[in-house]
Amino acid sequence: MKLLEAFRITSEAELSKPVTSLLDRLKSGDWVALNGDLGAGKTTFVRHIIRMLGSDEIVSSPTYPLLLEYVVGTQKIIHIDGFRLDGATPDPWDFREWKDAIVFVEWSEKTQLPRANFKFIVQILPLDEGKREITFFSPSF
Ligand code: ADP
Ligand code: MG
Repeated sequence: MKLLEAFRITSEAELSKPVTSLLDRLKSGDWVALNGDLGAGKTTFVRHIIRMLGSDEIVSSPTYPLLLEYVVGTQKIIHIDGFRLDGATPDPWDFREWKDAIVFVEWSEKTQLPRANFKFIVQILPLDEGKREITFFSPSF
């Protein structure tokens, strides 16, 4: 993995910094793996992404639907949570239908999604007192 950029933020409001930076890097068709423990802030990160793109749609966790889809302007956003998958059974979607979507995936290692398709890894690490370390990596295979 190649380190691209690292942020230390002290509140959720400061997510605007990493979110803006990631949006500058993203284009249609890119996939992003969000890594981090339960409660690290993966879903919150996607919520801020969708807000920053200009949507006021409610962004909830895809824990139960597994996949949630948003359209902001002409950009389709797909948000997946693989937590409830077991890593062995086939995924309940066909990723070949996602051509122009930007795709965010929590717990990607529990899905069957091809690793080589991920353009970025966003790692979220909770520190003390609600602080977070957020690091962008470019996967290398
Ligand atoms: P995950 O999807 O990784 O399980 P969530 O996004 O659901 O985690 O966030 C869990 C909790 O952490 C929420 O209560 C949220 O408000 C809080 N949180 C998320 N991101 C941040 C942040 N950057 N700074 C402070 N608190 C955060
Ligand atoms: Mg989540």
